[in-house]
Amino acid sequence: MTARTIFDKVWSAHEVVAETRDTPAVLYIDLHLIHEVTSPQAFAMLRQSGLKVRRADRTLATLDHSTPTRSEQVFGRVPIKLDAAARQVRQLEENAAEFCIELFGLRDARRGIVHVIGPEQGATQPGMTIVCGDSHTSTHGAFGALAFGIGSTEVGHVFATQCLLQRKPKTFAVDVHGRLPTGVTAKDLILAVIGKIGVAGGTGHVLEYRGATIAALSMEERMTVCNMSIEAGARAGMIAPDETTFAYLSGRPRAPQGGAWEKALAAWRDLPSDAGAEFDASADIDAATLAPMITYGTNPGMVLPVGAAIPPSAGNPAYDKALAYMGFHGGETLLGMPINVVFIGSCTNGRIEDLQAAARILRGRKVASGVQLLVVPGSQEVKRQAEAEGLADVFKAAGGEWRESGCSMCLGMNGDTVAAGAYAVSTSNRNFEGRQGVGARTLLASPYTAAASAVAGRIADPREML
Ligand code: SF4
Repeated sequence: MTARTIFDKVWSAHEVVAETRDTPAVLYIDLHLIHEVTSPQAFAMLRQSGLKVRRADRTLATLDHSTPTRSEQVFGRVPIKLDAAARQVRQLEENAAEFCIELFGLRDARRGIVHVIGPEQGATQPGMTIVCGDSHTSTHGAFGALAFGIGSTEVGHVFATQCLLQRKPKTFAVDVHGRLPTGVTAKDLILAVIGKIGVAGGTGHVLEYRGATIAALSMEERMTVCNMSIEAGARAGMIAPDETTFAYLSGRPRAPQGGAWEKALAAWRDLPSDAGAEFDASADIDAATLAPMITYGTNPGMVLPVGAAIPPSAGNPAYDKALAYMGFHGGETLLGMPINVVFIGSCTNGRIEDLQAAARILRGRKVASGVQLLVVPGSQEVKRQAEAEGLADVFKAAGGEWRESGCSMCLGMNGDTVAAGAYAVSTSNRNFEGRQGVGARTLLASPYTAAASAVAGRIADPREML
């Protein structure tokens, strides 16, 4: 039998109708995650067509993108400040009730960012097809699921049919070897991958991250890596499930239990790519050579080691425009440049291990005068754990703000924004123009680098504070 990749195995197990030259494949979807921003049009489409949600039991809703992070607006009597956000929250509450979809509502102890709560609840499982109206659905690929973002119209299609029309992507092996040096994290690794293959390098492909370095990563680190696959242009990113995956999932509320767990394990152990499976493309990364990374431009591919100089302009207008937006020049080094805001959170780096890393730097130190540090946990579960471990106290003692969970400053839809012209070191995943607020200048980095920069008030190398 032909050796197959994990992607091929998951794809063929879900192919209801194979693609032809003229028509895409019909792909069955195991889990549909939804949130308040990309679902309203899809619900409206159902109403117009007189349709129901075909598999409400395979649909899970949460509130994250435009939800407030201030406790008084979530749990107190203070109304949600932004009208648009309040409307979206209300709409999802009404839609979920009308279409019988389970919703982790605003005050639900299980609420959080859609890509944090799926794994946390054990709803994300190896071998599944998972979609959501959010690009960073690729996060769930860390479990060996085929997971990708879809548009609002496709959200409607999945509601109505539990299937999706898709062209089969190609496969791309990203082989990572060598031990990550101290102070260099999974975030630095994925930024380095994007720097190497480029923001369009993975276009039309599903990336599979492999090798000893990947096998040694925790599930949270694997999620950080897969989360940013989309920033390399890829349709999705996957990591083969292994004992680390199974240990993470075991006992979680929505993971299979008892006999069903044993049956699932047997199936999951068959998922990894077969020896000799062929990929359409490949890249090699030596993790031992990596340094903490930081972006300097307006896409995640404009990235360099924190102490390196910005490459000079080569007469490329798009490059010059990006540098002009950021207020940088070719030949400059970012290290030591003053900053205004530090955001630690998002579906890339808002999990407990990310907060533990930030606290390692911030413990016993103070945030530099004039710098705003905003720490936003990825879920209420992460928040509770961070408070129980004393991490929240570390952030507050350092002078940081500690909030309720949500997407927050990753995209600023809830009003947590960065002022025009201000520099924000952010642990999120996109540094596009205006992503964190009109005119805001975003520098993507790891929780270590973000925390170190908050203390220094300037872009800092975290290795000097560890
Ligand atoms: S944290 Fe950012 S990238 Fe992640 S789901 Fe929210 S808006 Fe999307």
